[in-house]
Amino acid sequence: MPEHTNHFYYPFEEEGEFSYSAERIEQLSEYEKYQLSFHPERPKYLDYLSLFESVEDCFSSDEFGACLIQTHRAEITINNTSIPLMLIGQQTGPTSRYKELLDMMKDGEKVKQWNHGMPTPVSYERAIKAIDSANEENRMIITFVDTPGADPTEESEAGGIAWRIGETIQKLIESKMATLSLIMNRGCSGGAIALTGCDGVLAMEYSTYLVISPEACSSILFHTRTRANEAAEASQITSKEGFELGIVDELIPEKPSPAHRHPKEAIQSAGTVLKKWIQRLTEIPEKELFTCRTERWKKIGHWKEVQEKQSEAILKKVSRVPVPNKEGFVLRHKNCYSGSGKRIYDPVSNSSLWKNNYVCPECGHRYVRPSAWDYIDQILDKNSFCEHEVTRFIVDKDILQFPGYDEKLEATQKKAGMMSAVITGMGTILDEKVVYCGTEFGFLGGSFCMSTGEKIWRAAESALKKQIPMVLQACGGGARMHEGCSSMVSIPKVHLALTRVERKGIPVITLITDPTLGGVAIGYGSRGIRLFEINSGDIGFSGRRVIEQYVGHKLPKDFQTTQWLYEHGHAEIIVTPETIKQKIVEILQNLSL
Ligand SMILES: [Zn+2]
Repeated sequence: MPEHTNHFYYPFEEEGEFSYSAERIEQLSEYEKYQLSFHPERPKYLDYLSLFESVEDCFSSDEFGACLIQTHRAEITINNTSIPLMLIGQQTGPTSRYKELLDMMKDGEKVKQWNHGMPTPVSYERAIKAIDSANEENRMIITFVDTPGADPTEESEAGGIAWRIGETIQKLIESKMATLSLIMNRGCSGGAIALTGCDGVLAMEYSTYLVISPEACSSILFHTRTRANEAAEASQITSKEGFELGIVDELIPEKPSPAHRHPKEAIQSAGTVLKKWIQRLTEIPEKELFTCRTERWKKIGHWKEVQEKQSEAILKKVSRVPVPNKEGFVLRHKNCYSGSGKRIYDPVSNSSLWKNNYVCPECGHRYVRPSAWDYIDQILDKNSFCEHEVTRFIVDKDILQFPGYDEKLEATQKKAGMMSAVITGMGTILDEKVVYCGTEFGFLGGSFCMSTGEKIWRAAESALKKQIPMVLQACGGGARMHEGCSSMVSIPKVHLALTRVERKGIPVITLITDPTLGGVAIGYGSRGIRLFEINSGDIGFSGRRVIEQYVGHKLPKDFQTTQWLYEHGHAEIIVTPETIKQKIVEILQNLSL
């Protein structure tokens, strides 16, 4: 039988004639390196189990998605001592043997079950159970990462995938046992960051670690999916680049050639480095672990600080809410039709619009998304807000020299009147002191980035120091792709910051506003006591457009709205602009009783 029927080759592999030397691989395009990272014959999680002893499958089930994150109790022997472990691994398919994969492809049911390697809420629930058990059974946690991203479907949104990913990140950050992550193949988007917020992050030499697929990035940047190579180059998606940027702690050599050519050698190489890190982490006494973790995450991220003069030229209170006429009315939005199809022209009373959270009572059209300052005016007592000195000069840093990012930042700062997407400070709500963090949708969609991580970190430190509750207004369309994977790596940092506050018995309250998606949703959108604004939309993990493209049909109008989330059990407390202040104070007073 000719060799090619047993193996899969990308065009650049020239049917196996490619040399596969480190030098030749370095010369491949960024997109080819990306493809290499998920070559179907690269070892998968189950192949790495050969490194461990007493391996025992746990929490398996027939539920859809359970096979996409698998969990095993195991042991490893280092210097004649057996160390108990909990292994949590993303498994993208049944096998790494190409011929068997081809056979599987003929079975529609099996193909469906493996879901293109995209984990569902059930997958993350399995990971959460394993983390809890590891903590009860004193097992170090090792996660194995390999995913094109989390499942972008209506079902996963209905199952609360954003909150399940957020909870997984929180559990790892709060684990009393040490945590270690190995990026085996492709670690893409929130699906990956769910498992990489660990005490150490290792990566196979030819793996990739990225916030968004090159195709999706190209479609946003260039309005076409065909410039994926440029998008990949700009985003610096290889783990090797991630190592240089400080988001990967150690690269595991793949010698003499990539893992799909020499799987045994690659797994052995991973074993050597894993042992070294497991030993290093077991040496940290349990009671010092959280302090070490805090030190580690404190250093994560890059940003710049500007002079007061520069900030004075930018800062202004931008408002987007409509200004009513003398009679208290605002113009009706264009194309308003009642449920019975009747066109409506008459002006709308500003107070009813405000009470309805700026959503048209007749047709559901959103008039505006209030600005960060509009929320400050709405939630905090008049003139009580005072921006933190320690956060007000922080601005975003273009660490990748990403095309157009600096220019975009400059224009956005002027337009939004903000230094970055997040503003933090002190204020009062009905005379109760709070540390407040607001997010501006007009600042690149409020996207989660490294400065967001740092500002919330510092705001949390202020809450800790002063023993004052935190109120966060979450908003944003996802993670900032201009900062590549580094934007996403600041998500666990925010979790850790908020955990430090909660562990001191200080309340954290998060208001979920329109929109709260992706990086924001799995970050601070998943934390604290969560309040959902009435009539908000676009709340969840994947955006409506991404899901519609993937599933190939339109989604219902009320999809991902507060009401829809409530019906699916994800929005317990709903607030209106009229009730929000009272509700927050009520929660704070009840908690302090
Ligand atoms: Zn309307």
